[in-house]
Amino acid sequence: MDFSEFNDRYQSDLTDCALETLAVRAGQVRTLEAEHSEPMFLSSSYVFNSAAEAEARFSGEAKGNVYSRYTNPTVRTFEDRLAAMEGAEACVATASGMAAIYATCLAHLEAGDHLICSSSVFGSTVKLFEAYLRKFNIEVDYADLLDPADWQSKIKSNTRILYLESPSNPLNDIADIQALADIAHKAGALLVVDNCFCTPVLQQPLRFGADIVVHSATKYIDGQGRCLGGAALGSQELIEPIIGVLRTAGPTMSPFNAWVFLKGLETLHLRMRAHCDNALYLARWLEQHPKVTNVNYCGLESHPSHTLAKLQQSHFGGVLSFEVMGGKQGAWHVIDNTRMISITANLGDAKTTITHPATTTHSRLTEEVRNKTGITQGLLRVAVGLENVEDIKRDLARGLDTIN
Ligand SMILES: *Cc1c(COP(=O)(O)O)cnc(C)c1O
Repeated sequence: MDFSEFNDRYQSDLTDCALETLAVRAGQVRTLEAEHSEPMFLSSSYVFNSAAEAEARFSGEAKGNVYSRYTNPTVRTFEDRLAAMEGAEACVATASGMAAIYATCLAHLEAGDHLICSSSVFGSTVKLFEAYLRKFNIEVDYADLLDPADWQSKIKSNTRILYLESPSNPLNDIADIQALADIAHKAGALLVVDNCFCTPVLQQPLRFGADIVVHSATKYIDGQGRCLGGAALGSQELIEPIIGVLRTAGPTMSPFNAWVFLKGLETLHLRMRAHCDNALYLARWLEQHPKVTNVNYCGLESHPSHTLAKLQQSHFGGVLSFEVMGGKQGAWHVIDNTRMISITANLGDAKTTITHPATTTHSRLTEEVRNKTGITQGLLRVAVGLENVEDIKRDLARGLDTIN
């Protein structure tokens, strides 16, 4: 029996649907069991009906699964759903966010190429570029996220990738994605955007000219701090070589994790809205607090990137940072007086987290660079979770109110 008419019944009319609908329904292919929820295919390999079928599958002449390092139905469902949400032609899932970034580099860079990276990206991304890409004779330069002219001035004849995150962590600076895409394309390079902080619910970088979007699904897509995963998205032409790297090198997504992420995608729009509402409320409160000297949240009218954030994003995100009086002592006092908020550098979780960037995520930088880039000793980052916002506020206020 063929259930294709069954899938036609449920899948054929999704093309014009809104993101919330795609998040719940896109990519699902029902099996002969007519299950309602997506099944989890924990199978490393697949069987064939005959030697001839095996030959046809291996040669690629016949479509179908061969081995789960290449394709897996649960992973495929996750990829198709995320692609629909990002407005991407193609998506490939990876074992982690870092796997998505390095597979993208391996696929699209060669020895002798040049990459320009925003000076404020995830620490492991910098480590990947510095410790490993350089080993293969790939040049790396850094540019100011806020200054397209700086990127333009660093373009060389061998520049192949411009790489950024927006908003930046922890200062919430916003890149002009369209301007940087134009600079990249004029130079024959690709613009790669890490969309982990926004997710497709808040921002779809491909619409502003980005060529490839990478994700750490570990953060908001999971949303509850359980699984590691990632993805790269873009045109079929650009994603195909990344699939090639992953199939051969191996850091593909496990079907179990794909299933967890699929469930995460179904509620992503509701959760992102709640993260954003809580973050904006806290940012406004912190801005008025006598012991707080500065709040970095792009949802505040006072933030230098506010206008651009409104243009590129549907909402302002769940991560904010703020500077307290008393430097490191003041900042640590706030952390050590929390009773509920988790002291961890993770983000994108239902649980609110707090971290002191200068001594954790940004401790590798020199004091001079930190001060120049705004990662001062008094700075705290909060990844706002889904608890009642008054409870989060009370937990922060305990330390804040008693800074001396
Ligand atoms: C966490 C993170 C990554 C890396 O993702 P993993 O899933 O931990 O490998 C990349 N970029 C950003 C912005 C992140 O927050």
